[in-house]
Amino acid sequence: MNIEKLARPEIVAMKPYSSARKEAPGEGVLLNANEAPWPLLDPESRLNRYPDPQPERLLRHLARLYQTGQDKLLVTRGSDEGIDLLTRVFCRAGQDAILQCPPAFGMYRIAAQTQGADVVSVPRSTEDFSLDEQGVVDALDVDPRIKLVFLTSPSNPTGDVLDRSFLLRLLDLAQGRALVIVDEAYAEFTDHPSATALVDDYEHLVVLRTLSKAWAAAGLRCGSVIAQETVISLLRRIIAPYPLPSPVVSLAMDILDDDILEKQRNLLRQVKNNKRILLAMLEGRPFVRKIYPGEANFVLIQVDDADALLSFCAQYNVILRGFPAEQALRGCIRISVGSEDDLASLERALDKWEKAQ
Ligand code: PMP
Repeated sequence: MNIEKLARPEIVAMKPYSSARKEAPGEGVLLNANEAPWPLLDPESRLNRYPDPQPERLLRHLARLYQTGQDKLLVTRGSDEGIDLLTRVFCRAGQDAILQCPPAFGMYRIAAQTQGADVVSVPRSTEDFSLDEQGVVDALDVDPRIKLVFLTSPSNPTGDVLDRSFLLRLLDLAQGRALVIVDEAYAEFTDHPSATALVDDYEHLVVLRTLSKAWAAAGLRCGSVIAQETVISLLRRIIAPYPLPSPVVSLAMDILDDDILEKQRNLLRQVKNNKRILLAMLEGRPFVRKIYPGEANFVLIQVDDADALLSFCAQYNVILRGFPAEQALRGCIRISVGSEDDLASLERALDKWEKAQ
C-alpha cells in the first residue's frame, strides 16, 4: 500500500521547512541560526543553541526500549502531540473523519475537531464498557471518510486491553483505507504484548508510547510515535522545527540510563501492589456499584452519586477524576493508583463518606 495516498495531498506536496540545525549539525563556528554566542546560565548548558530536532542518542535509547528501529520512531511532546500530528497529516478538514470508541481518551476527539475532521464514535457497551468490535468493523466498512482508527490498550478510562485477533482482523480490513493507531500509554502496566512488534508487517499501523506514565515523567513531555518510515517521514514534515527542549532531552537520557531501570521496575512493582490495596479498599463498600479494575495504573468505579463523592473527597484534599460532561460515564470515578500515603488519605475520606450515608 502507498501510505501517501491516505495522507492529505497538500502535506505530501508541501516542501517542508528546513531548520538551520537540520541543515548543519550543531558543531563548528555557528553563525547560521541567529543564536546568542553564549548562554546566560551554565556555559556548559548550550542553552543559547537550538536543540537537535530529533536527537540521535535519545532516538537510539527509545528505539531500544520499545524494541523497534530508530528510523521507525519519532519523538514528540508527549503522545498528545503524536495524536495531533497524525490527525493533521491524514484528515482533510470537512472531508475526513477519525473513529473512536467512547468512553475513550479525550484528545482523539479534540485533535479531530481542531482539524475540522468529523468524529465517528462506536460506543462501548453500556453494560460493561466492552469494545464493540463488530461495530468498529462495520463503521470502517461503510464510511470511506475514516482515515484514522484510534484504539487504546490498556484503554483510558476503562482499563481493558485490546484483543490481538481483533487487531489483526482490523488491520486486514483497514489496509489501503485507514491507519490503525494503538495508543499504548499504559502498556508497561500489563503483560499484554505491545503491538510494536507488528509495525514491520503493517505499513498502516501506528503505536504510541510515552514516558509519562510508567516512567514517572509526565512533566517531561516525551512521547514516541512508532510506525514505518513512510508514516514517520510524513509526520516529520509538519512537526515543529525544534519540538524537544534541550533540558528535556538531557533529562530523558538520564531517565533511560541503565542505572534507573531498577528504580523503574520497582515503581511498577509498587504500583501493582498498591493497586491491590486500592481494590481491596473499594470492594464491599455499599456505595460502590461496580469496579472496573482494568490493567493500567488506575481503577474505574461506578457509584451512587459521583458528583457528591468527588466533592466530599476534595474537602479532604483527595482529588479524584469525575466525568460530569460524559453521559456514558455517569456515576463513574477514575482513581489513579497513588502511593501508600495517598491511599491511606483516600481510605480515610471513603470511611467518612460511608459513615455519613
Ligand atoms: N493516551 C492516553 C490513553 C492517555 O491516557 C494519555 C494521558 N492521560 C495520553 C495518551 C497522553 O499522554 P502524554 O502525557 O504522553 O501526552
